[in-house]
Amino acid sequence: MKKLIFLLLSLWLLEARAYSVDEKKLVDMTYPFAEETLHWPTAQPFKLEKVNEGVTPQGYWYSSYNYSGSEHVGTHMDAPFHFAQGKWTTDQIPLGQTIGPGAIIDVRRKAEANRDYQLQVVDIRTWERRHGRLPDGAIVLMYSGWGKFWGDRKRYFGSDQEGDVTNLRFPGFSKDAAAFLLKERKVKAVGTDTPSIDYGRSRDFIAHQIFGRANVPIFENVASLDRLPPKGTTIFAAPMKIKGGSGAPLRIFAVLP
Ligand SMILES: [Zn+2]
Repeated sequence: MKKLIFLLLSLWLLEARAYSVDEKKLVDMTYPFAEETLHWPTAQPFKLEKVNEGVTPQGYWYSSYNYSGSEHVGTHMDAPFHFAQGKWTTDQIPLGQTIGPGAIIDVRRKAEANRDYQLQVVDIRTWERRHGRLPDGAIVLMYSGWGKFWGDRKRYFGSDQEGDVTNLRFPGFSKDAAAFLLKERKVKAVGTDTPSIDYGRSRDFIAHQIFGRANVPIFENVASLDRLPPKGTTIFAAPMKIKGGSGAPLRIFAVLP
């Protein structure tokens, strides 16, 4: 009997070890979804409506809610189909497309000096001089420092007027940088800690168009980039599998080296 208990105990321990995850190595890069979560000025906010909440007459606790909102609220993915007809909708993106080595490109100083900053090819080359060539399948994330404005709609977007898309001011990717990442390098996905991969003043959303046509998913309002080293992380991004969707709420996290 003792032997059996010992055997069972060791098996249980083994199992526990096999499934253990070091939380200190994980960085959550998703903002919580709530009514106040920032969203594109023309998009529906996230809503959580109570259906049940409380102790039932039978004596147990029960809670459940309905949620609604735009695909493009808070931390989310833009599917290629968002700006490119015939390209992948949210559900068509292969799982492996949104998992890869992270490359965090720090443009904080330039963005601080210029709200309309657009990531340049030279920023990518500067990163490469320090950290080596971008690996194939990289997930390239622009770190503008905009996360410090999160929650303050006026400072984060440049305008706090519902529906106002003419006075937006925040950094994004330049057309040249987008083309470089596709033609000269092989990125799997790209992202930014700002509301959009195109800078706020953009009228043609050219970076969206370029990445969309190349079937490259885009992550927006990415959180916690201040906690990631420039290289050595693995990024995991899991969009909600919306059939025919142009995007989706995103759970994105990094595993630290
Ligand atoms: Zn979007």
